[in-house]
Amino acid sequence: MDSVIQPKPASATGTAGAAKKRIGIFGSTGSIGKQALEVIEANADKFSVSILTAHSNHDLLIEQSRKFRPAAVVIVDETKFQLVKNELSSLGIKVLAGEKALEEVAEMNNYDMMLAAIVGFAGLKPTLKAIETGKTIALANKETLVVAGDIVMQMAVQRRVPVIPVDSEHSAIFQCLVGETRNRIEKIVLTASGGPFLGKKPNYLVNVKREHALQHPNWSMGTKITIDSATLMNKGLEMIEAKWLFNLQPRQIQVVVHPQSIIHSMVQFEDGSIKAQMGLPDMKLPIQYAMAFPVRIANDFPRFDFTKSSQLTFEPPDIRTFRNLALATDALHRGGNLPCIMNAANEIAVFGFLKNRIGFLDMTEVIERTMERLTYIEKPTLEEYFESDAEARNFAASLINL
Ligand code: NAD
Ligand code: MG
Repeated sequence: MDSVIQPKPASATGTAGAAKKRIGIFGSTGSIGKQALEVIEANADKFSVSILTAHSNHDLLIEQSRKFRPAAVVIVDETKFQLVKNELSSLGIKVLAGEKALEEVAEMNNYDMMLAAIVGFAGLKPTLKAIETGKTIALANKETLVVAGDIVMQMAVQRRVPVIPVDSEHSAIFQCLVGETRNRIEKIVLTASGGPFLGKKPNYLVNVKREHALQHPNWSMGTKITIDSATLMNKGLEMIEAKWLFNLQPRQIQVVVHPQSIIHSMVQFEDGSIKAQMGLPDMKLPIQYAMAFPVRIANDFPRFDFTKSSQLTFEPPDIRTFRNLALATDALHRGGNLPCIMNAANEIAVFGFLKNRIGFLDMTEVIERTMERLTYIEKPTLEEYFESDAEARNFAASLINL
């Protein structure tokens, strides 16, 4: 299959004098959403904001809306609706509330690109609506592809909708593929920082607490992905994300630990040549690249200096200790609804850990038992993915008495 996100040569989009690209930021109050708004603010001649959505942080949503003047906003938490409406209606901003409203605004025709920056399974339905109605997707929400990557990418191919990665590893691969449309990928190498517990063993991890796990050495991110990075589930989710984005076989995907997070990932072509994309860890770069693709935009982000950093190191991941990565590799290979089940169980497990209900290593137990328990479906329909997600959540929650 010809992947729709294979980088194509520069077209007229984003060139000087072109109309501003209208962005809908789904999850604007999160780590990615806020950084995207910084990129937009710095490039107000190139981008405008049409939609902003938030789960419950109404104060920030109001503040962002005053500044960027979107046409519509969604506050998912309905108890905040009146508050937000009172503040924004007089500005001519349409205010909607509830989960369903995310899909409603995703279908609107007042924007060109969705920045999918909601965390977790909640991002799937609005993203599907955006694809259905022909919007280009800048995808941060990896869970969307983990849960239903086949259906999402198939719909994107059918609608000729580009899905441009924001996740730094996938952005790196995407950038390495520019100009390589006709060349076969032998494998990709996803780099992993290793997280805050690199080199630690189970006897240490068993005592790890929430506050400890929330300290990531190289990246500042939302809480869920920070925990996923500490357990290496994030890299597991990213393997599955890469499979769908780049149309790869599981055996073509390798993970290597690279603690400095300077090489963001690599592509090895069939002649053995390896391309890497590098830079200081800063999500604004992949966000900006996805929004402006195929154009690069000059900026003043700090630069990596080879003369100041002498060591770039690599090692295999310790999957005996960080078993989530082994579980995700299994899900990657077996496919079907297993990644969806794993993702749902992981969302519950992370939630339980953040609430101090379960320990660090218990997260893996919850995920593994849920993956073992639920019925495997080889080729699920979208409805079956939703059902698997709900069943897996219920089962995982029952394991930790949520
Ligand atoms: P975050 O927790 O900081 O923000 C999440 C956003 O989604 C917020 O705006 C929140 O209001 C909204 N949200 C949360 N639950 C929701 C729900 N049920 N319904 C609707 N909206 C909801 O998360 P983040 O770190 O910005 O990550 C967002 C996505 O991007 C995740 O899928 C993550 O894996 C991915 N990602 C993040 C980074 C990063 O550096 N933060 C890097 C790569 C990929
Ligand atoms: Mg990543």
